[in-house]
Order: sequence, then structure tokens, then C-alpha cells
Amino acid sequence: MTNSDSPIIFWFRRDLRITDHPGFHAACATGRPVIPVFLHDEGVERLGAAPKFRLGLGLAAFAAELERLGSALILRRGPALQSLQALVEETGAGAVWWTRGYDSVTIDRDTGVKTWFNSNDIDARSFPGHLLFEPWKVTTVTGGYYKVYSPFWRAVCQRDVGPALPAPSRFVKPAFWPETEALSSWQMDAPVNRAAPILRRHQSPGEVAALAKLDRFIGDRIGSYKNNRDFPALDATSELSDHFSLGELSPRIAWHRAQEAMRAGSAGAEHFLKELVWREFAYHLMFNSPRILDRNWREEWDNFPWSEDPENPGFVRWCRGQTGVPMVDAAMREMYVTGRMHNRARMIAASYLTKHLMIHWKLGMDWFAECLTDWDPASNAMGWQWVAGSGPDAAPYFRVFNPETQAAKFDPDGAYVNRWVAEGQARPAATALEFFDAIPRGWGLSPEGTYPIPGIALDAGRKRALAAYSTAFPPR
Ligand code: FAD
Repeated sequence: MTNSDSPIIFWFRRDLRITDHPGFHAACATGRPVIPVFLHDEGVERLGAAPKFRLGLGLAAFAAELERLGSALILRRGPALQSLQALVEETGAGAVWWTRGYDSVTIDRDTGVKTWFNSNDIDARSFPGHLLFEPWKVTTVTGGYYKVYSPFWRAVCQRDVGPALPAPSRFVKPAFWPETEALSSWQMDAPVNRAAPILRRHQSPGEVAALAKLDRFIGDRIGSYKNNRDFPALDATSELSDHFSLGELSPRIAWHRAQEAMRAGSAGAEHFLKELVWREFAYHLMFNSPRILDRNWREEWDNFPWSEDPENPGFVRWCRGQTGVPMVDAAMREMYVTGRMHNRARMIAASYLTKHLMIHWKLGMDWFAECLTDWDPASNAMGWQWVAGSGPDAAPYFRVFNPETQAAKFDPDGAYVNRWVAEGQARPAATALEFFDAIPRGWGLSPEGTYPIPGIALDAGRKRALAAYSTAFPPR
């Protein structure tokens, strides 16, 4: 077998789809056998409990979809380079291709993989696919990267996103399939413990489900998206974030569908496009300034007196949905039960933690990374630093969300709070009760318990935060 008719190993990562998949499309188009592979490389991507659980569901759905098309998904665990070397050896593959990642740890690992294979006569290539544009391709007039969203949005709008690719029309199977590990042996649901069956009810993994959800959103919701998207009790947003996170849906497909809706006169379409570009902006920032993932993007925040103690009682109560502030607790409980949290609720919960409780955004970001099934490193970090005030183009620190005012405005009849907070209600909603079935027994909470009293009154918390802010950043 020469290199030109040998199999291509396609290494899937956060790109679990076949439609509009540039790398997989190119591999199939060669007419060579293609071996789809997923490597569980925990040295590089150590996932929190809920994202790991969701990845397990995504892998099962993707493997089933590949099988339906006459292909398969080979699973291996361990450091990527060694796993790929073994697979090349076993299959006689002459190429290893994949879709690019953009965080520095992934880039370093992938560079090592590419260098090793290319210097050993194996064609190693990476492709775009996770974003509308590669993060280095959208630049300011001086060639730098954007630090403010609005000009970034304008720059994106001036570029051509390019057409979406169809699913490959044919797959050539290898002469034999290499051995695969069983997904069940990876126990992807173990870390979420007894929340697993509850979380499962709120997930619809896979590309087929993602495309159906996109259809539903464009058909039913996009027209009212602009007006309704801030009301957490309404089913008004696309709920596509977990699919984007695992690459089950191509952003290019969503972009073109929303563009069509906009041309047809849909009032909310432009707003939806703007949200897709917020995701794009998060990756642009992460690629160009990786410090956004774990350090204050604005260094002047390094001396701000945030608590960084994970045992801080305020932090523990926040994680457990026990702050005594209903809007915040509803948000935290929604996340624990569904793996999602409405965007407005994310902003309120994050603001409360970083401002009223003066707890470091990194602790909040890490708890979200543990609990969100749509966890995304770039959007999570950008979202937290935006709310905290330490990020690029961030909300100013003195803008402290008042959770009560926010509730009055965005949850006027209390439907969202009632959906998630059981205590004190004669007939609590089933969703509110699910929280108590999902949480660890060790938390010792029950729906019959008394609803907690806040550790600090809202006004006192706000004043304390603003006082700390004026001390750290005295007016000049
Ligand atoms: P829609 O309103 O339907 O928006 C469509 C898509 O646009 C989303 O699926 C998402 O991919 C993207 N998008 C929307 N808003 C944002 C935003 N503010 N930033 C980046 N992309 C956006 N999003 C994640 O996907 N993963 C995270 O881990 C995450 N953590 C966050 C943490 C905080 C503190 C905050 C404030 C926001 C965070 N977001 C995160 C962004 C946002 O809350 C979610 O993307 C959104 O709620 C997902 O719901 P949806 O799919 O219905 O969004």
C-alpha cells in the first residue's frame, strides 16, 4: 500500500458532526479509506463532571450516526501522540488529519503531534471548522487583534463566511477496523453521580438533534428572539450552545440560516447573528491573549481583594443555590439540574458572586466548568471576566446587577424562580424538586427545609463592593 491509497486517520475532537466538516469532507473526498477516531486525552482536556457526562452522550450519538452511514468511531484513551502512533502502526495509515483547537495547551500538543508525524513521512494536517473564521484572520487595520466587540462584529460582517459543505457522499471503509475501547468503560457519567438520570432528561445530544433544534429555532423563535431572549422563564433562545461546544453543529450553518431569516425580514435574526459573533469573539480573545483563561485580563485587577478561598461559606452557599437570593438560587439550581443556565441568569449569578460576595471570578468560572453541559473554555472565561470587570470590553465594575431589580424586570411573575426554588411553596414545581434528587446527599438539603437568609443584604453587599473598588482604583 502506498501512502496515497493508505487509510487516513481522522482524529475527531470537539467536532462531532459530519455536515459542514471541512477536514472530514476533505478526507472522504480523497477516496481513501477513512478511520474516524476519538482520543480521550485527559492530560490535555481534563473535563468537569457535567461536560464529561455530555461528551459521553455526544460520543454515543456520533458513533451511532457514523455506524448508520457504514462507518465507525474508534475510541482510545491516553496521550494523543502515543495513541495515534499505535493506530498508524496497526492500520498502515499514511495520514492523520484533524480540526484545529485554539487554546494554548491544545495548540502545543497538536504542534508536537504534527511535527512528529510529518518528520516520519506521515501526512499530518489540521483544518478549520470550529469557528466562522480562524482567530488570526480577523485583524484590526494595524494587524492586531480586537479587544472590543463592536468593531469585531463590524469586521466579521464585512467578511465572507463561505458556503457550508454537505455531508460526505461516500465513505470508504478500511480493509479492517482497528480495535476500539468500549465507551461504557470510560464511565463518562460517573462524576455526576446521582444527578446522571436527571441531567440526561434535559439533554438531546448529537448532530441530528442539533439540526432539528436549529430548524425549530429558525421556524418558531427567531422572530421574537430580540424581545424575549432576556426572559429566563421563556423558551426564547436557541439552546444550541452544547452543540456548538462539541461541534455537533457548524456555526457556519447557523450563520447562513439566520442570514436567510434576516433577508426574509425576521426581526430577531440580526441579534442572533450577533450572539454567534460573541462566541467567535471569545475564541478570538482566547487565541490572541490566552491569559484570559486563568488570569485577570486587565493586570490592574491582580490586587483587587477578592476572596480566593473555595471554603468561603458564601461561595459554598452560592454553589449550592443557598444564597437566600431567589433569582441567584434559581439560576444555580437550573444549572445543577439541566446543565444549562439562561444567559441573563448567568450574568446575575456571576455578578452576585464577584460583586455582592466579592469572591474571585475564577472560583465561579471553575464551578460553571464543573456543572455546565455547554461548558466552553473561551465563552466561560470571557463571560466571567466580562461580568467581573477584569476582562476586555468588560461591563464596568460599578455596574452591580441588583438581583431583585433584575427579577422584577425579567421574571415579573416569578415563573423562573418558582420553576427552580421549592422551599416555601405549597406545590413546588417538579423541576424545583428535581434539584434535591440531583444534588449530593452530603449537602443535607431537602425541599421541606427553610429557605436561607442572605449572608449579606443586597444594599450592604453593593456598597462594600463599590468601596473596595474605589480603594483599588482611586479616582484620579
Ligand atoms: P442563544 O441566545 O440562542 O445564542 C446562540 C449562540 O450564540 C449560543 O448557543 C452561543 O454559542 C452563542 N452565544 C450567545 N451568547 C453568548 C455569549 N454571551 N458569549 C459567547 N457566546 C454566546 N456559553 C457557552 O457556550 N459556554 C459557557 O461555558 C458559557 N459560560 C458563560 C459564563 C458566563 C458568566 C456568562 C455571562 C455567559 C456564558 N456563556 C457561555 C454565554 C451564554 O450564556 C450562552 O452561550 C447562552 O446562554 C447559551 O444559550 P443559547 O444556546 O440558548 O444561546
